[in-house]
Amino acid sequence: RPVVAIVGRPNVGKSTIFNRIVGERIAIVEDIPGLTRDRIYGEGEWLNRAFSLIDTGGIAFDNEPLREQMRLQAEIAIDEADIIILLVNGRDGVTAADEDVTNILYRSKKPVVIGVNKVDNPEMHEQIYDFYRLGFGEPFPISGSHGRGIGDMLDEVFTYFPAVREDEHDPDSIHFAVIGRPNVGKSSLVNAILGEERVIVSEHPGTTRDAIDTGFVKDEQKYRIVDTAGMRKRGKVYENTEKYSVLRAQRALERANVVLVVIDGEEGIIEQDKKIAGYAHEAGRGVIIVVNKWDAVAKDDKTMNEFTEKIRKGFAFLAYAPILFVSAKTNQRIQNLLPVVHRVAENHQTRVPTHVINDVIMDAVSMNPTPTSGTKRLRINYATQVAVGPPTFVIFVNDPELMHFSYRRFLENSLREAFTFEGSPLKVLARKKS
Ligand code: GDP
Repeated sequence: RPVVAIVGRPNVGKSTIFNRIVGERIAIVEDIPGLTRDRIYGEGEWLNRAFSLIDTGGIAFDNEPLREQMRLQAEIAIDEADIIILLVNGRDGVTAADEDVTNILYRSKKPVVIGVNKVDNPEMHEQIYDFYRLGFGEPFPISGSHGRGIGDMLDEVFTYFPAVREDEHDPDSIHFAVIGRPNVGKSSLVNAILGEERVIVSEHPGTTRDAIDTGFVKDEQKYRIVDTAGMRKRGKVYENTEKYSVLRAQRALERANVVLVVIDGEEGIIEQDKKIAGYAHEAGRGVIIVVNKWDAVAKDDKTMNEFTEKIRKGFAFLAYAPILFVSAKTNQRIQNLLPVVHRVAENHQTRVPTHVINDVIMDAVSMNPTPTSGTKRLRINYATQVAVGPPTFVIFVNDPELMHFSYRRFLENSLREAFTFEGSPLKVLARKKS
């Protein structure tokens, strides 16, 4: 999927344009507060092509001067994106700051499309002419506040989308990502997994130059670790910023079936871990929680249980995820990882026949009657599985409003007890059918 990044100096309207393009898509998760606020990464669609959009303006570098922040943001765009939208303010003309950003963008070979924002009415169109001199072709007048002109700009962006790649989705290969905040040991873990195998097959370039995946075979199963390049190149200032590590995680999530959420056993769980785990859950991928650096933890026979409890409390929404305690340094239990990845990938693809689902749901209903509102009672007509990856169930009911969160959770748990969905989120949706 092509990646588009928006760059530009502060207050030109990057977030407004970002929200216009991505739309106000509401997350399906109720129990992770604040996750969808403050987004810098989203999915858009234009002319039937899905693409990812990054608002680099959302990646702030608090201790850097403005000029340096903009430079870093432009570099992130160059690193991460296939196409860059340079957003400028039509009311100001070309400013020195616009020229700064432009100079950085020149150095990459990525296509750049200029959006001239705040051109709110046709009489203002001539304000775009000044921006020709930035040298990126025709500037596109847009209005974030009125939502005008964005389509024409996206038409231009679309012309730079790379051709659809066929080999991105090998259905026989399990794609997994290793995510987590900086320094939890992601690269060490990837090296440990690969070192263990010594059977690296190939490296596949992803959509952008920097996304490189590593494929290998173990026990006749093909695997692919997505975005291993992001772990190898080191030392850029922005790699240690929180927003950047979230961005990286989200990009990896997009191409994975299963994610390993890595936690530092020595340091314990911090807020940033919860955020990253929340994104893994929200993306609907299979999830495994990996507690790394277990070698460095002073422990007795209770330590593992205590840590498990902390994880269950801190990541309540990931109750379905198995937890593994490993050490990338000593290779402790590293050999257990791939079998669990394999199992979770299968659970994520589980398909249950409709009659079996209905037996389970009806049993559940007889144990715990459906909720009522006033004189009205929820009636369940029947249930069916409509998708895998993650398994998604639709329950046809007389009135979806009557399906309370807690009852839906109860039905989900009944399905979990009846089948093996370990490591996989489930979606349970109520639809009207009288
Ligand atoms: P990343 O930023 O998540 O990719 O983390 P790295 O793989 O670069 O590791 C960060 C630091 O933790 C390095 O100094 C590693 O040597 C160290 N480290 C990684 N895994 C382990 C482990 O299992 N045990 C111990 N004691 N240290 C580890």
